[in-house]
Amino acid sequence: MIIIMLGAQGTGKGTVAGILSKKNGWIQLSTGDLFRENISKGTELGIEADKYISKGCLVPDDITISMVKTKLEELKDEKGIILDGFPRTLEQAKRLDEILAGKGEKVDWVINLETPRDEIIDRMLNRRVCPQCKATFNLKLHPPKIEGICDNCGSKLVIRDDDSDSEAIRKRLEIYDTQTKPLIDFYNKKGIVIVEEISERINRFADEACEDFMKHIKE
Ligand SMILES: [Zn+2]
Repeated sequence: MIIIMLGAQGTGKGTVAGILSKKNGWIQLSTGDLFRENISKGTELGIEADKYISKGCLVPDDITISMVKTKLEELKDEKGIILDGFPRTLEQAKRLDEILAGKGEKVDWVINLETPRDEIIDRMLNRRVCPQCKATFNLKLHPPKIEGICDNCGSKLVIRDDDSDSEAIRKRLEIYDTQTKPLIDFYNKKGIVIVEEISERINRFADEACEDFMKHIKE
Protein backbone atom coordinates (compact mmCIF):
# COMPACT_ATOMS: atom_id res chain seq x y z
CA MET A 1 0.00 0.00 0.00
CA ILE A 2 1.30 3.43 -0.95
CA ILE A 3 0.23 6.41 1.15
CA ILE A 4 1.15 10.04 0.58
CA MET A 5 1.28 12.58 3.41
CA LEU A 6 0.29 16.11 2.53
CA GLY A 7 -0.01 19.13 4.77
CA ALA A 8 1.71 22.46 5.32
CA GLN A 9 4.71 22.68 7.59
CA GLY A 10 3.72 22.69 11.22
CA THR A 11 0.71 20.41 10.74
CA GLY A 12 2.52 17.40 12.19
CA LYS A 13 3.10 15.27 9.10
CA GLY A 14 6.14 13.59 10.58
CA THR A 15 4.28 12.75 13.79
CA VAL A 16 1.31 11.24 11.97
CA ALA A 17 3.51 9.26 9.59
CA GLY A 18 5.55 8.05 12.59
CA ILE A 19 2.50 6.80 14.49
CA LEU A 20 1.06 5.04 11.44
CA SER A 21 4.30 3.32 10.55
CA LYS A 22 4.91 2.16 14.11
CA LYS A 23 1.38 0.80 14.52
CA ASN A 24 1.21 -0.98 11.21
CA GLY A 25 4.82 -1.85 10.49
CA TRP A 26 4.83 0.47 7.50
CA ILE A 27 7.91 2.20 6.17
CA GLN A 28 8.12 5.98 6.53
CA LEU A 29 9.98 7.43 3.61
CA SER A 30 10.79 11.13 3.68
CA THR A 31 12.69 12.79 0.87
CA GLY A 32 14.95 14.43 3.45
CA ASP A 33 16.02 11.01 4.75
CA LEU A 34 16.38 9.74 1.22
CA PHE A 35 18.71 12.61 0.30
CA ARG A 36 20.79 12.07 3.45
CA GLU A 37 21.02 8.32 2.84
CA ASN A 38 22.17 8.74 -0.75
CA ILE A 39 24.65 11.45 0.16
CA SER A 40 26.18 9.50 3.05
CA LYS A 41 26.46 6.36 0.91
CA GLY A 42 28.03 8.43 -1.87
CA THR A 43 25.70 7.11 -4.56
CA GLU A 44 25.77 8.77 -7.96
CA LEU A 45 22.40 10.39 -7.29
CA GLY A 46 23.56 11.46 -3.84
CA ILE A 47 26.61 13.21 -5.26
CA GLU A 48 24.39 15.00 -7.79
CA ALA A 49 21.82 16.00 -5.15
CA ASP A 50 24.51 17.27 -2.80
CA LYS A 51 25.65 19.80 -5.42
CA TYR A 52 22.25 21.49 -5.09
CA ILE A 53 21.63 21.00 -1.39
CA SER A 54 25.02 22.38 -0.39
CA LYS A 55 24.20 25.55 -2.34
CA GLY A 56 20.80 25.76 -0.69
CA CYS A 57 19.04 25.04 -3.97
CA LEU A 58 16.12 22.71 -4.64
CA VAL A 59 17.13 19.30 -5.94
CA PRO A 60 15.82 18.93 -9.53
CA ASP A 61 12.85 16.62 -10.08
CA ASP A 62 14.77 14.09 -12.14
CA ILE A 63 17.22 13.36 -9.33
CA THR A 64 14.52 13.14 -6.67
CA ILE A 65 12.33 10.91 -8.81
CA SER A 66 15.21 8.56 -9.61
CA MET A 67 16.00 8.25 -5.91
CA VAL A 68 12.38 7.51 -5.05
CA LYS A 69 12.21 4.97 -7.87
CA THR A 70 15.32 3.12 -6.68
CA LYS A 71 14.12 3.15 -3.08
CA LEU A 72 10.65 1.87 -3.96
CA GLU A 73 12.32 -1.00 -5.81
CA GLU A 74 14.33 -1.79 -2.68
CA LEU A 75 11.18 -1.71 -0.57
CA LYS A 76 9.04 -3.74 -2.93
CA ASP A 77 8.25 -6.43 -0.34
CA GLU A 78 7.04 -3.98 2.30
CA LYS A 79 3.31 -4.02 2.99
CA GLY A 80 2.99 -0.28 3.42
CA ILE A 81 5.00 2.80 2.52
CA ILE A 82 4.22 6.36 3.62
CA LEU A 83 5.77 9.01 1.42
CA ASP A 84 6.47 12.28 3.20
CA GLY A 85 7.74 15.24 1.18
CA PHE A 86 7.09 13.60 -2.18
CA PRO A 87 5.42 14.29 -4.52
CA ARG A 88 5.55 18.05 -4.11
CA THR A 89 4.32 19.06 -7.53
CA LEU A 90 1.78 17.81 -10.06
CA GLU A 91 4.64 16.83 -12.35
CA GLN A 92 6.19 14.65 -9.61
CA ALA A 93 2.79 13.09 -8.90
CA LYS A 94 2.38 12.10 -12.53
CA ARG A 95 5.88 10.61 -12.65
CA LEU A 96 5.19 8.68 -9.45
CA ASP A 97 2.04 7.23 -11.03
CA GLU A 98 4.12 6.08 -14.01
CA ILE A 99 6.70 4.42 -11.76
CA LEU A 100 4.02 2.64 -9.75
CA ALA A 101 2.03 1.65 -12.84
CA GLY A 102 5.14 -0.04 -14.18
CA LYS A 103 5.02 -2.31 -11.15
CA GLY A 104 1.27 -2.83 -11.22
CA GLU A 105 0.82 -0.52 -8.24
CA LYS A 106 -0.80 2.82 -7.52
CA VAL A 107 -1.12 5.47 -4.85
CA ASP A 108 -3.74 4.03 -2.51
CA TRP A 109 -4.37 6.94 -0.14
CA VAL A 110 -3.48 10.55 0.37
CA ILE A 111 -3.68 11.97 3.89
CA ASN A 112 -4.13 15.73 3.83
CA LEU A 113 -3.50 17.29 7.23
CA GLU A 114 -5.19 20.57 7.99
CA THR A 115 -4.51 22.89 10.88
CA PRO A 116 -5.86 26.42 11.29
CA ARG A 117 -3.31 28.93 10.05
CA ASP A 118 -3.10 30.88 13.29
CA GLU A 119 -2.31 27.68 15.19
CA ILE A 120 0.48 26.80 12.78
CA ILE A 121 1.93 30.28 13.10
CA ASP A 122 1.70 30.09 16.88
CA ARG A 123 3.43 26.71 16.86
CA MET A 124 6.26 28.00 14.71
CA LEU A 125 6.77 31.16 16.72
CA ASN A 126 7.16 28.91 19.77
CA ARG A 127 9.59 26.57 18.12
CA ARG A 128 13.20 26.46 19.30
CA VAL A 129 15.93 24.43 17.68
CA CYS A 130 19.30 23.17 18.86
CA PRO A 131 22.01 24.38 16.47
CA GLN A 132 24.21 21.48 17.62
CA CYS A 133 22.12 18.29 17.51
CA LYS A 134 19.14 19.71 15.52
CA ALA A 135 16.59 18.70 18.17
CA THR A 136 13.42 20.79 18.10
CA PHE A 137 11.35 21.96 21.03
CA ASN A 138 8.15 23.89 21.43
CA LEU A 139 7.84 26.30 24.32
CA LYS A 140 4.17 25.37 24.77
CA LEU A 141 3.81 21.78 23.59
CA HIS A 142 7.11 20.22 24.60
CA PRO A 143 9.42 22.72 26.27
CA PRO A 144 13.02 21.86 27.16
CA LYS A 145 13.58 20.80 30.78
CA ILE A 146 15.79 23.81 31.40
CA GLU A 147 14.67 27.03 29.76
CA GLY A 148 16.64 27.82 26.63
CA ILE A 149 18.87 24.73 26.87
CA CYS A 150 18.82 21.59 24.70
CA ASP A 151 17.79 18.46 26.66
CA ASN A 152 20.07 16.25 24.58
CA CYS A 153 23.34 18.10 24.39
CA GLY A 154 23.10 21.17 26.61
CA SER A 155 23.57 23.69 23.81
CA LYS A 156 21.78 27.01 23.79
CA LEU A 157 18.51 26.85 21.80
CA VAL A 158 17.83 29.33 19.02
CA ILE A 159 14.89 30.53 16.94
CA ARG A 160 15.27 29.71 13.29
CA ASP A 161 15.30 32.91 11.26
CA ASP A 162 12.34 31.91 9.18
CA ASP A 163 10.29 31.07 12.29
CA SER A 164 10.64 34.46 13.90
CA ASP A 165 8.30 36.49 11.74
CA SER A 166 4.60 35.65 11.54
CA GLU A 167 4.18 37.55 8.28
CA ALA A 168 6.95 35.51 6.65
CA ILE A 169 5.40 32.28 7.92
CA ARG A 170 2.00 33.33 6.57
CA LYS A 171 3.56 34.01 3.15
CA ARG A 172 5.28 30.62 3.17
CA LEU A 173 1.99 28.91 3.96
CA GLU A 174 0.33 30.75 1.09
CA ILE A 175 3.05 29.55 -1.28
CA TYR A 176 2.50 26.02 -0.02
CA ASP A 177 -1.23 26.29 -0.74
CA THR A 178 -0.65 27.54 -4.25
CA GLN A 179 1.87 24.82 -5.05
CA THR A 180 -0.11 21.98 -3.52
CA LYS A 181 -3.57 22.86 -4.79
CA PRO A 182 -3.08 21.16 -8.20
CA LEU A 183 -1.71 18.09 -6.40
CA ILE A 184 -4.76 17.82 -4.16
CA ASP A 185 -7.09 18.35 -7.12
CA PHE A 186 -5.23 15.57 -8.98
CA TYR A 187 -5.71 13.08 -6.15
CA ASN A 188 -9.24 14.27 -5.34
CA LYS A 189 -10.27 13.26 -8.85
CA LYS A 190 -9.15 9.75 -7.99
CA GLY A 191 -11.24 9.89 -4.81
CA ILE A 192 -8.37 8.86 -2.52
CA VAL A 193 -7.84 12.00 -0.39
CA ILE A 194 -8.69 11.80 3.30
CA VAL A 195 -8.62 15.12 5.13
CA GLU A 196 -7.61 14.93 8.77
CA GLU A 197 -7.88 17.99 10.92
CA ILE A 198 -5.33 18.51 13.66
CA SER A 199 -6.09 21.37 15.97
CA GLU A 200 -5.49 22.19 19.60
CA ARG A 201 -8.64 24.29 19.64
CA ILE A 202 -10.85 21.26 19.07
CA ASN A 203 -8.50 18.95 20.96
CA ARG A 204 -7.82 16.82 17.97
CA PHE A 205 -4.26 15.58 17.76
CA ALA A 206 -2.16 13.19 15.69
CA ASP A 207 -3.44 10.06 17.50
CA GLU A 208 -7.05 10.77 16.62
CA ALA A 209 -6.12 11.61 13.04
CA CYS A 210 -4.37 8.24 12.73
CA GLU A 211 -7.26 6.31 14.24
CA ASP A 212 -9.71 8.01 11.92
CA PHE A 213 -7.54 7.27 8.91
CA MET A 214 -7.31 3.58 9.83
CA LYS A 215 -11.09 3.44 10.11
CA HIS A 216 -11.43 4.94 6.64
CA ILE A 217 -9.13 2.49 4.94
CA LYS A 218 -10.79 -0.52 6.58
CA GLU A 219 -14.22 0.45 5.30
ZN1 LIG B 1 21.18 19.65 21.22
